[in-house]
Amino acid sequence: MPSVRFNKVLIANRGEIAVRIISACRELGIKTVAVYSEADRYSSHVRFADQAICIGPAKSARSYLDLPSIISAAEITNVDAIHPGYGFLSENAGFAEVCETSGIKFIGPRPDVIRMMGVKEQARAYMRSKGVPVLPGSPGVLESPEEAIATAEAIGYPVILKASYGGGGRGMRVVHRSADLAGLFAQAQQEAGSAFSSPNLYLEKYIPAPRHIEFQLLADEYGNVEVLGERECSIQRRHQKLIEESPSPAVSASMRAEISGVLRKAIAESGYSNAGTVEFLMDEAGNLYFIEVNARVQVEHPVTEFVTGIDIVKSQIRIAQGESLAEILPGPVEMRGHAIECRINAENPETFAPCPGRITGFHLPGGIGIRVDTWAYTDCVVPPYYDSLIAKLIAYGNTREEAIQRMRRALGMFIVEGIYTSIPLHEKIMADADFQDGCFDTTFTQRYSPAPKAG
Ligand code: ADP
Ligand code: ADP
Ligand code: MG
Repeated sequence: MPSVRFNKVLIANRGEIAVRIISACRELGIKTVAVYSEADRYSSHVRFADQAICIGPAKSARSYLDLPSIISAAEITNVDAIHPGYGFLSENAGFAEVCETSGIKFIGPRPDVIRMMGVKEQARAYMRSKGVPVLPGSPGVLESPEEAIATAEAIGYPVILKASYGGGGRGMRVVHRSADLAGLFAQAQQEAGSAFSSPNLYLEKYIPAPRHIEFQLLADEYGNVEVLGERECSIQRRHQKLIEESPSPAVSASMRAEISGVLRKAIAESGYSNAGTVEFLMDEAGNLYFIEVNARVQVEHPVTEFVTGIDIVKSQIRIAQGESLAEILPGPVEMRGHAIECRINAENPETFAPCPGRITGFHLPGGIGIRVDTWAYTDCVVPPYYDSLIAKLIAYGNTREEAIQRMRRALGMFIVEGIYTSIPLHEKIMADADFQDGCFDTTFTQRYSPAPKAG
């Protein structure tokens, strides 16, 4: 296949994912350019990149989300491509388009495909048309609370109002009865408008205790698609993932094969390329329903890398260079063993409130079956402006049981002093009998929720 070789790649991100992308570039012999805000001057990604450019003040809107600053940095440093990581500009079709018109390769899907997949009710309609099961819901954007009420009556309560451009677990409202709908509609519109610059909402059936299960895909620019199995991401809090694993204890080999087959076709026909994730919810009866596509690398990609042996970030870069999956993948995709990831956040384990500050002592666990992706180090400062993820601890074992044993051992050897972290919460969850049995859903962490405040 016709392919180019990138000489230099700019990483339009920060934190652990920026370091992860720099690592992939180093292995491929590609030079790197980091961009950073004034708050990140001493961050690891700045240190590990070959070049670094300050793009603005701490506030993301004026640095990591500032399109003109990032494009100027790319032009000044003469890079061939930009890797957007996750969050920030990663799913911004306009950014991908500007890269294209500036002659810089965007490491991700084409702008039109990002745009279609990013509008959640459009992605629903597309998947439905390709025979992927979706939850009953509104066919498109809800024009009024009255339309929402009529749709909810037709499919039955409870329902969930969701933002068309939603992400990061925000902008959603569960509705149990029609009397509450108009009020919650207004709230959700307001929140969506301020968080995603669009008040558009759609609605779907609410599953009270689902499992969140997602499939990892790689697609080259010639219409070839591979599915790298699934991840179980049901251990969440406030609709945000906390622990992920692969494979899912709830997915059988036949279900995996069936969904992979349907997805391979649906994704190929959409013109999708690069890495992506298709998210599903599983109801109590074990049926899977599509919820959204994440057109980017995902936080939890390392668990899939452990069980498949495939480097997803290097694959992203090679796909963008024009290489085919046949050239990139070592052979047929196979899953072996079990991997679990714990997101180590800087937060108070009692209240879950973010806990930025200086890390005064830092010791990483290691040894067989352990991987840590982090940007943190002794004496670094966790800034208050960005998300609170300081490290991802990933454990691999031949069995789920062995992965849990290794995770428990590693959590006990992970030392972070000076700030609070989610490590004690992870230790409790790893010791939980239901977690160990694989019996859980997205409501699981409620049992570890902070006690409601008195008064
Ligand atoms: P993943 O499935 O990869 O874990 P998340 O939903 O946790 O995805 O998002 C990854 C990161 O991107 C988080 O830092 C999250 O806050 C951020 N993020 C995701 N979507 C958006 C969005 N639309 N706007 C702003 N931040 C987002
Ligand atoms: P985001 O774009 O913010 O990631 P998602 O559509 O992926 O939003 O949903 C995030 C989480 O919200 C899911 O993992 C699940 O916990 C919850 N959720 C979303 N839709 C539903 C639904 N229809 N029923 C029950 N829970 C839902
Ligand atoms: Mg999601």
